[in-house]
Amino acid sequence: MDMATEARRILLVEDETAIRDAVAAYLERENYWVTGVGDGTSAVDEFEKHHFDLVILDLMLPGIPGEQVCRIIRDSSDIPIIMLTAKGEVEDRIIGLELGADDYLVKPFSPRELVARVRALLRRVHIDSEPQREVLSFGDLEIDLAGHKCLVKGEEVDLTASEFKLLTTLSRYPGRVYTRMELVEKVLGYDFEGYERTIDSHVKNLRAKIGDDPRNPTWLYTVHGVGYRFEAPRE
Ligand code: CA
Repeated sequence: MDMATEARRILLVEDETAIRDAVAAYLERENYWVTGVGDGTSAVDEFEKHHFDLVILDLMLPGIPGEQVCRIIRDSSDIPIIMLTAKGEVEDRIIGLELGADDYLVKPFSPRELVARVRALLRRVHIDSEPQREVLSFGDLEIDLAGHKCLVKGEEVDLTASEFKLLTTLSRYPGRVYTRMELVEKVLGYDFEGYERTIDSHVKNLRAKIGDDPRNPTWLYTVHGVGYRFEAPRE
């Protein structure tokens, strides 16, 4: 197989030309196929017209803002999304994750770090897409590993790639406590301190989607000061 057939396609949405060009050049050197756009409208257009494997999305954009672009993409796809946010805007990062981004990077970031995150996310999606003939069942919650589907009371719940990975990681070993750091490694695919808040956001989203009340959980329990664990409810 030659490089061209293997190249993963990345949609890069960034209005600052200097950053966009530098990031694109770096990714292309790593053999990714990059489509760069500078505003939200073009991002949505490109996304609807072509197939991509991953999206890198700046939050502050002219035209349609990054939050809305993220929401539009999430409405139809669980493609990995990395959000780019300005330094110090903590709320922005949390917003990004709540909208269903898989990861975020704070500007200024090193292109090397971005490439590492891209690689980790794509590898994870690839591993997840390998066939596993298994359906895990926990009361009203069913996880179809082969079909990459989650059902609550028979109804399919739309999860992002990160939420699905989080759920399958926790539910594989009911009762086992996972620290936030362990979950960062397993779910996001890298070992980097300071990203535990990311896991909290993913857990929050996952709970909302599967209808699990954190104060009276059926499946996902918070272990205070440590992390999370999954429990199989008694039939
Ligand atoms: Ca911007």
